Amino acid sequence: MHMADKARGLWKTPAIEVLRARPGQRIAELDCGSTPGFVGGKSDGLALFEERGTVLSSLQEKLYANGRSGDSRSVLLVLQGMDTAGKGGMVRHVIGHVDPQGVDHASFGVPTPEEKGHHFLWRIDKALPRGGQLGVFDRSHYEDVLVVRVHDLVPEEIWSGRYDEINQFEKELVAGGTTLVKVAMFVSLDEQKSRLLERLERRDKYWKYNPSDVDERRLWPAYQDAYQAMLDETSTDYAPWYVVPCDRKWYSRIAVTELLIDALEKLDLDWPPAAFDIEAEKRRLAES
Ligand code: AMP
Ligand code: MG
Repeated sequence: MHMADKARGLWKTPAIEVLRARPGQRIAELDCGSTPGFVGGKSDGLALFEERGTVLSSLQEKLYANGRSGDSRSVLLVLQGMDTAGKGGMVRHVIGHVDPQGVDHASFGVPTPEEKGHHFLWRIDKALPRGGQLGVFDRSHYEDVLVVRVHDLVPEEIWSGRYDEINQFEKELVAGGTTLVKVAMFVSLDEQKSRLLERLERRDKYWKYNPSDVDERRLWPAYQDAYQAMLDETSTDYAPWYVVPCDRKWYSRIAVTELLIDALEKLDLDWPPAAFDIEAEKRRLAES
């Protein structure tokens, strides 16, 4: 069977449809262990992941090739999620399928003193992908309406205006030729507990553990409200959110792979034409 047919067979509903944030959708009711749209199990998912990774890689190479020929378009994957949701693994495994030359990766932690002195979009603007690049944000400008809102890091009158600011910013970004793929990654409270425990039990995982992650767990309901507001306020036609259940890593990874493939396919990329006379170059080469 042709792979695209197999992929279609295992996805009863395409990821791009089934995961798109719906108006009125309640995050608190999301089953983080579910595999929306996918009818296969883990082994199907893992096999498919490799196959589709190859497709993703060749589409990304076309994007890169076009960028080298002056095409200013780009794709930006925005990953938002609580600690342990699997943002790092998403980058390592999904983005790991493509040529690192074509990836503009940025992660956003607690703002530096310099960043604090600027508008919250300043550091984001500097990290946007160049033409032809696949940008990846591990956390993003959305932290400024998530952690900032939950911890009252700025007054409400400031953070509440940021939803509109973000929408305006993203509208301009999209108009400038960047396709945004915004992925909200949701892990359950129980699964988070076992992933944090693993970080405490394995020498190779201590480095990922942060004692404050346990304090953040107490703020889970406040984070859920903040994530809900983020989806309600910033899922737009030009930059929709995709809500991805992440308790099963194999599922979240094939889902995001499909979202990226879809975004790249919509660019309708072809290999750039030769910028030289092919026959003349063949002759010159033969004579050399
Ligand atoms: P990690 O991704 O585990 O390295 O953690 C980065 C930390 O930086 C997280 O706790 C984020 O909530 C925090 N962070 C990211 N952006 C902001 C921001 N704009 N203001 C405050 N904290 C932030
Ligand atoms: Mg962390």
